Amino acid sequence: MVNKNDEFKLNITGYTSEGGGVGKYDGQAIFVENVAIGDEILCHIIKAKKSYAIGKALKILKPSKNRINPECEAFRMCGGCSYAHITYDEELNLKAQKVKDAFERIGGISPDFKDIIPSPAITRYRNKAQYPVKRENGILNIGFYAKKSHRVIDGGDCLLQPEEFTTITEIFRKWINENSITVYNEQIGKGLVRHIYFRKAFATGEIMVCVVINGATLPYQDSLIELLRAVNGFKTLVVNINRDNTNVVLGTQCETILGDGYITDILCGVKIKLSPLSFYQVNHDGAQLLYEKAIQYANLTGKEDILDLYCGTGTIGLTMANKVNSLIGVEIIPEAIEDAKVNAQINNITNARFICGDATLAAEKLQEEGIKPQVTILDPPRKGCAEELLKTVSEIAPERIVYVSCDPATLARDAQRLENLGYKALEVTPVDMFPRTAHVESVCLFQRTTT
Ligand code: SAH
Repeated sequence: MVNKNDEFKLNITGYTSEGGGVGKYDGQAIFVENVAIGDEILCHIIKAKKSYAIGKALKILKPSKNRINPECEAFRMCGGCSYAHITYDEELNLKAQKVKDAFERIGGISPDFKDIIPSPAITRYRNKAQYPVKRENGILNIGFYAKKSHRVIDGGDCLLQPEEFTTITEIFRKWINENSITVYNEQIGKGLVRHIYFRKAFATGEIMVCVVINGATLPYQDSLIELLRAVNGFKTLVVNINRDNTNVVLGTQCETILGDGYITDILCGVKIKLSPLSFYQVNHDGAQLLYEKAIQYANLTGKEDILDLYCGTGTIGLTMANKVNSLIGVEIIPEAIEDAKVNAQINNITNARFICGDATLAAEKLQEEGIKPQVTILDPPRKGCAEELLKTVSEIAPERIVYVSCDPATLARDAQRLENLGYKALEVTPVDMFPRTAHVESVCLFQRTTT
């Protein structure tokens, strides 16, 4: 039995699904953060439970061959990256294993597991950042929440973000300090600036800057705009109003201060209009590989009608539109659906229609309409699909379902449900859209087995 404050040598032999390390001591599982399989550490127990314990690596006695020095100074404190201390190959191995484990343990099924597709870039791949702004002990911090905390760590030059985001953060620091602009204090619900939020369209270089405020108007706009004009690609400045006492970053109301209030990207050859509130994949080059895989799984001949559920701004369906007869997209956020419609227009796509609503309800309505798509795309948020939705989709009975997922656990759960509803999970390909973090995307192909 391991006790609090015990210290001993520990070999790290596995990873948890959150990316922490695991070793065994005295028959007990010991969980340790920021270690790699193959590390021998001096472990200090910080919490001891009956069946497991949590330890801290006081010292790396013998490093794993997969261990590297994190390039980022904030790695140990910041809650963003989980794998800055191991090689990218090792990260890919453990992400592939995470997907396989989820299917086998949660889903109880073993489709054909294909090799994980690496991200084309490991650094500076993100096209979006939302930095909390906080003043603590008089010091203005703009960056990231520390692990499991609401303390803000200054982002510095985060290696996952484009360099322009660092430049713009410094502009905000100067603008806030020089104009004595107040920043939000969540304890008392007072202060103006809550978050700064950036988007960059990688294909065009266009940049959107959005300031989330607890107030009605943004003061000193001209001086901010003047500073922002120096940033290459800066296209539009938007204010988002969020006056609620909440952890949710964005409010529902946006006001354009400069430019059009949106930027345009190009994904798999399709122009995509991006407004502040719409979902968009954060890794542009990775998303192209993910969508190519989805297109391959959809196995289109040009005759198919496709249903794209949880379509966001329509991206997946629109990249397939020139290979299908018709496309219906469904999405719950009105702004995203407006963008999807514009996206169809600006790409001269005339065989698509988009419906704003809850996927489960919309699918039921479409079923009543009698639609008969050969292919259905599912790309739900982390919590996966509602059970009802899977049932309705199985009754609509497409030949193939292409399921894109950012959470292997809910994908595996839904895969099992689909298997009980007359589909077989044929193969799954993990795609690493989020290098250095614990997240992994997957795309899974299901084939109908009933007639
Ligand atoms: N397929 C898109 C978006 C995927 S993210 C892309 O690749 O870009 C998941 C999307 O599901 C988000 O746009 C989110 O707004 C939407 N969503 C969340 N819950 C929903 C629901 N109940 N019904 C319909 N859409 C929903």
